[in-house]
Order: sequence, then structure tokens, then C-alpha cells
Amino acid sequence: MFKMTWPEVEEYLEKNDVILFPTGSTEQHGKHIAEDNDAFTAFEIARRVAEKTGVLVAPPMPFGNSVHHMKFPGSITLRFATLVNVYKEVCKSLLHHGFKKIVIMNGHGGNTNAIAQALRELREETGKIVYSLMVFAGERGFGSESVKILKQEGGGHACEMETSVALYLGQRVLLDRAEKWKTPKAWTEFDKKYLRKVATAKDFHELTEIGSLGDPTIATKEKGKPMVEAVIDEISVFIEDLKAKKD
Ligand SMILES: [Zn+2]
Repeated sequence: MFKMTWPEVEEYLEKNDVILFPTGSTEQHGKHIAEDNDAFTAFEIARRVAEKTGVLVAPPMPFGNSVHHMKFPGSITLRFATLVNVYKEVCKSLLHHGFKKIVIMNGHGGNTNAIAQALRELREETGKIVYSLMVFAGERGFGSESVKILKQEGGGHACEMETSVALYLGQRVLLDRAEKWKTPKAWTEFDKKYLRKVATAKDFHELTEIGSLGDPTIATKEKGKPMVEAVIDEISVFIEDLKAKKD
């Protein structure tokens, strides 16, 4: 949409009311992936879905909730309330112009709670339903079958999955600098014993000294292809269903 003129947007709105709103983050992605990766991925997936389904894409939101990455240089974070307000105000602007079906295309797990809060408040304040989905393939999301090719244990950040997707999408990846996750030296027996059983607010540098999780060293462009294609195909089916949906 940001490369269109207002009459072109007006013309689109006469025939279609769907818009994709990519959101990501600017944060460290290990020693090997560029900091824009979540925003880049959200935009790339949105752009490819838009091409397939003939819908519009709003400009990507480059900043997210990355407070847990702030020990690594380059990360930028917005406070929770700021982020909720940004999502709400972008959606309210789009609703104002007549986009009735907004889909937030999220590339960063750390944004999930702020997006959920924004969707809830938008519902309360406008009565409108806004949708949100994750652009990375995941066990419980789109592309769930495709992640079965992964071999790593753990993961979840700048890992085998994310690095493979980045390689396939043409992101800047310094694969020779990628390192496999190791238990941080500072971990105590207590930390190891209750890992994944007891939740607490942890910062990323406490979980990983290199900034990534899982095993990005076994990532390949070839593994990225089926995951990206599955996500694009499955999200496109959702967008077609959404286009056809009568309120
Ligand atoms: Zn990421």
C-alpha cells in the first residue's frame, strides 16, 4: 500500500477490504542473522501471500517488544503499552478507511501478548474483529507439517528453523559465524533442574551466551524452502476464506 497513491487505494477498497499488516522486531539474532529478521520475514511472507491472493500489504512495523534482548547491541524495544497503542492506532486508521478485514502478520513471538491485548481493546472500543497469525512455521500454527524436517533439539530463536527460512528468503546470514546452543556457564543445578517446568521472566543473555537457541549450524536454504512454501500456501487459503467470509 505504501507504494500506491490514494486514488489507487480508494479503487482497491471498492472491490476488496482485506489488508495484511506485517509486524516484527529489531533485535539480535545470534552472531549470524541480521537484526531486522522478524520484520523482514513478516514483510516477505506478507508480500508473497499478497501476490497470491491479490490483497494489499501495509508498511511493516519494524519495532516490537524486545526487552529480553537488550544485553545484545542493536536491539530496540518498545514498552508494552506503546506497542499495544501502535497496533491499535494503525488498525483504527485502516478501519477508518474501510478495511474491514485486517490480518496482523507477526514475525516475533515477543509481540504476541501485546497483539492479543490490542485485538481485545479494538474489539471493546470499535466492535471490530482483527486477526493475527504467526508467519514462521510452527507445530501449532501454519506449516505445522513442514517443521517435521527439523533435526535440532530446542530452538526458537535464530535456530535451525529461523536460519533456514532466512537463507531461503534471501536475508543476510553469516552462516560461518553460526554456533550451536550450549548450556550457559552461569547456570546452576537449580536452573537446569527446573528448565521448561517453571516459568519466570528471563532475559536472553541468561539463556544463551551467543544470542541464538537450538542449532543454526545445520540450517540450509533447502530446508527453508518447504517451510516457507507451506506457510505461504496455508496462509493464502486462510486469506481466500477470509475474503469470502460474510461478516
Ligand atoms: Zn526472529
